[in-house]
Formats: sequence, C-alpha cells, structure tokens
Amino acid sequence: MHSVVVIGSGCAGSTAAIYAARAGLEPLVIEGLEAGGQLTLTTDVENFPGFPDGIMGPDLVGRMKRQAQRFGAVYRHGEVSRVDLSERPFKAWIGDEALETKTLIVASGASARWLGLPSEQALIGHGVSSCATCDGFFFRGMPVTVVGGGDSAMEESLFLTRFATEVSVVHRREEFRASKIMLDRARSNEKIHWITSATVSDVEDPDAKEVTGVRLRSTVDGREWDHKTSALFLAIGHIPNTGIFAGQLDLDEQGYIVSHGGAKTSVKGVFHAGDVQDRVYRQAVTAAGAGCKAAIEAERLLEEEG
Ligand code: NAP
Repeated sequence: MHSVVVIGSGCAGSTAAIYAARAGLEPLVIEGLEAGGQLTLTTDVENFPGFPDGIMGPDLVGRMKRQAQRFGAVYRHGEVSRVDLSERPFKAWIGDEALETKTLIVASGASARWLGLPSEQALIGHGVSSCATCDGFFFRGMPVTVVGGGDSAMEESLFLTRFATEVSVVHRREEFRASKIMLDRARSNEKIHWITSATVSDVEDPDAKEVTGVRLRSTVDGREWDHKTSALFLAIGHIPNTGIFAGQLDLDEQGYIVSHGGAKTSVKGVFHAGDVQDRVYRQAVTAAGAGCKAAIEAERLLEEEG
C-alpha cells in the first residue's frame, strides 16, 4: 500500500514527488510513455526562474527527477492503463499488476494534437512529426512546413531554420495566437515564409513512405493548391491525457480535469497537477507550482486522517 502514487514524470509530477518525498511519504512515480513529459521535447528553456542563461528541457526534468530521488521518491517505468477511484485505497494498474494507494496525484500531462488526416497518420515518423526538436535534424538542407499559429509553431519554426532551407508556416487565420515577442522573432527570420488563411487538406506521398508535399486549402474560398515540402511539423496544440479517468473524475468538454479548488479533483484523495488540468498557462513553472500544491494537499489529507 502506497501513501502517494504520482501518475506522470514531467515538471508537475516530479515537483509533486520532491514535496511528497521530503514529507517522508515515499511517493511512487509512474513515468508514463513520455518519461519526463513535454520538456523532453524542447531545447532551451529560457523562462524557468533560476536559470539566467537558460537550461535544456531534458536537463531540467532530469534534475527534478534526481532531486526527488534524493529524498526517497521511487520512479518506475510503465504506463497506468486503468484506475479504480470508486473507493479508497485507490487502485491503479500497470499491465496486470494492481497498485494500491491512499492518495493519487494525476500529472499525466497533455499530448500533441494531430490534424487527423489518414495521409498524415500514415506518414508519422516518415516526415510527419509533432516535435521539431526531435526530428528537425533529419531535414537538413530541405524545405519544411509547420502548421499552427501559437507560440509552439513560432518556436518550432525558428528552431527548424537551423537546418531547413526554408520553413513555411501554415496558419488557418490571419491573426496569430502567438505572443508578440515570439511572433516578432519569427517574422524577422528571412527563412520563414507565411501562408495564412490556409489549412493542410492532404499529405503526399504515403505510398512512397516519405513527405514530398502537402495539399493546401484556403479557409476563405476553399481553393486548393500543392506546396512542395520534405517534412510536415504539427504545432496545433495538445490534448490532455485523461482517457483512463473518464467517468471517474469530472472532466470538461475537452477532457481537461475540472478543478474542485486548489489541487482537488471531484474525488477526495485524488489531486491534479499540471497540464492535465491547466489549459491556460501550460508553462513548466506553473506545472511545477501545481505539483507542489498537489503534494501539500495530499500530505495534509493523510495527516488529517492520521
Ligand atoms: P495554442 O496556443 O493552443 O495554439 C495552437 C495553434 O494551432 C493555434 O494557432 C490554432 O489556431 C492552431 N490549430 C489548432 N487546431 C488546428 C487545426 N485542426 N488545424 C489548423 N490549425 C489548428 O498551442 P501552443 O502553440 O502549443 O501553445 C500552448 C501554450 O504553451 C500556450 O500558452 C503558449 O503560450 C505556451 N508556449 C510557450 C512557449 C514559450 O514561451 N517559449 C513555447 C511554446 C508554447 P487558432 O489560433 O485559429 O485557434
């Protein structure tokens, strides 16, 4: 029987683990499929306080993990496939193995959103990617295309200019959601070209198992045209990883956990931390703060219950 099980090992999960471990609760962290979370897919993190020269994303989450382990947190590979939150102790399954825990911290984060085109899905890993940091290097000396109009699209486009001959940003509106500073940086980069009021309607060429171009469609008049490119990077937001909690925790219409004040979910003893609940800020530092809150609330509940 565990006192605290943390689902997820990104900024939120590891910060929860640091606090729970320092409270002597020996938390068990289930790392999940993307161990270390979304920061492992980024390069420089320039806005995490305490690192005036920036820090690489994987380095930052690696340090958080070591910090939690130093105080007795145990990290375990694997993915929670099922939970039973109907009574305490709660149950969480990794494969056939059931874990029991008095409290649960859900820090399972969010995953990249896809367009959902069959040709896109067929070409994932063959030129279609949701992670410029991971795959940009493969397209050195080639033209690439990024879809999206938020900060991620700007960040990925700027990163890709290091390798690609030309980066085309395809965005479905004329206005951008990205922050002014990121948009200005991208706009002042000569390698970046802008295709606005357009979406990708198809990706060529699934038969050849490589990306040779995309079909674009105007969002104004529906006109279609071909655009040559060697890779397609999606930067169109994220979907919270809450599938296993459906019907057990209050979720909103997009699947984010609904907060019941502080780090509380609709089930007493289950706490939320990070992007799995936060659709607004989604920053490393806010996720870390949320992990801290969740661990403190778990500790207080356990203390109240003796
Ligand atoms: P986002 O802000 O939600 O932007 C998603 C973009 O994708 C939007 O421009 C959206 O278009 C577009 N989009 C969504 N679905 C689409 C579809 N089906 N087809 C075509 N386009 C679609 O997501 P994000 O850029 O990943 O950023 C998430 C959060 O992380 C934000 O708070 C952001 O500030 C933060 N972030 C910060 C940094 C940084 O500071 N260094 C870096 C990355 C992310 P519409 O605008 O038309 O909705």
